[in-house]
Amino acid sequence: YCRRSWSSESSDSVISSESGNSLYRVVLIGEQGVGKTTIANIFAGVHDSMDSDCEVLGEDTYERTLLVDGESATIVLLDMWENKSEKGWLQEHCMQVGDAYLIVYSITDRSSFERASELRIQLRRARQTEDIPIILVGNKSDLVRCREVSVSEGRACAVVFDCKFIETSAAVQHNVKELFEGIVRQVRLRRDSKEK
Ligand code: GDP
Repeated sequence: YCRRSWSSESSDSVISSESGNSLYRVVLIGEQGVGKTTIANIFAGVHDSMDSDCEVLGEDTYERTLLVDGESATIVLLDMWENKSEKGWLQEHCMQVGDAYLIVYSITDRSSFERASELRIQLRRARQTEDIPIILVGNKSDLVRCREVSVSEGRACAVVFDCKFIETSAAVQHNVKELFEGIVRQVRLRRDSKEK
């Protein structure tokens, strides 16, 4: 379990959720091999130069505080979709516990893109009455020559599924920070519209 702040400037001043900022539970879902764990590792700061303040308490849950639009938000990221031994129960659980979801596919694997659509439908069914923030994530954008799903297909799918869309490359750390900032903004948009 990893608790730390995102920006490198403030990496030694961990802002905890107890200080009154918002805490969001974000769940990574998607087919095996699309890059969920790699994305989670970037979030956890595994590849940062300074990861000494990263306390790991569990292998698939990470916590980090981000400053987004001048307001801090703490994300608890769950990457347990494929835990082999308890898959059925755990996937049901994942569908229930998230405040927001990142549905990940690989742009090099069309079947993972189709699986993403199925997961969107499954999620809608599981949380029928709720307007849950979702970002459709086309990962592995660095693998240009192996691309099987175009940017416009990804974008069109997100329109149909009424969610946001982003392409990332966890391998070269492109758009990953933007992804997490984006999900915080999506949660806030809904929160703000509820308050009105
Ligand atoms: P998961 O099963 O969804 O958690 O996927 P992993 O994070 O384990 O990644 C599966 C494989 O894809 C690993 O070999 C990663 O190194 C690789 N991978 C993940 N993200 C990227 C990416 O953005 N670009 C490239 N080229 N490889 C990636």
